[in-house]
Amino acid sequence: MSVLRDIIERKARRETIRRYGFTGKAGIEADPSYRGRVGLKRELCIGCSLCEKDCPSAAIQIVQDEKGKRPILFLDRCMFCGQCKESCPTKAIYMSSELELPVFDRRELEVM
Ligand code: SF4
Ligand code: SF4
Repeated sequence: MSVLRDIIERKARRETIRRYGFTGKAGIEADPSYRGRVGLKRELCIGCSLCEKDCPSAAIQIVQDEKGKRPILFLDRCMFCGQCKESCPTKAIYMSSELELPVFDRRELEVM
């Protein structure tokens, strides 16, 4: 069956097809141990830079602001290895089980 014919028949049957990444989350649940979106608890960070030094993807950059040094995580470069979480002495970095990360603007993948 051709793709076009399949689409027309589905349309006629009023079947809806959710366009992944355009109409919201697909509702996929990952195991809690899954290494998904990396998060940061800013209040726990002491600005030691270990996460930046140990990240094999150069996905972390330490910056200075009025509260001191802090990391910015660039998840578009991250390979979700979990090394930053292991290296952080204060457990300021954690890994969530969130696996759906499609965005239109890569700046939405910056964790501050
Ligand atoms: S999970 Fe790995 S690649 Fe991603 S920011 Fe942490 S150390 Fe870098
Ligand atoms: S390793 Fe932890 S405490 Fe050190 S800069 Fe990174 S997030 Fe902050």
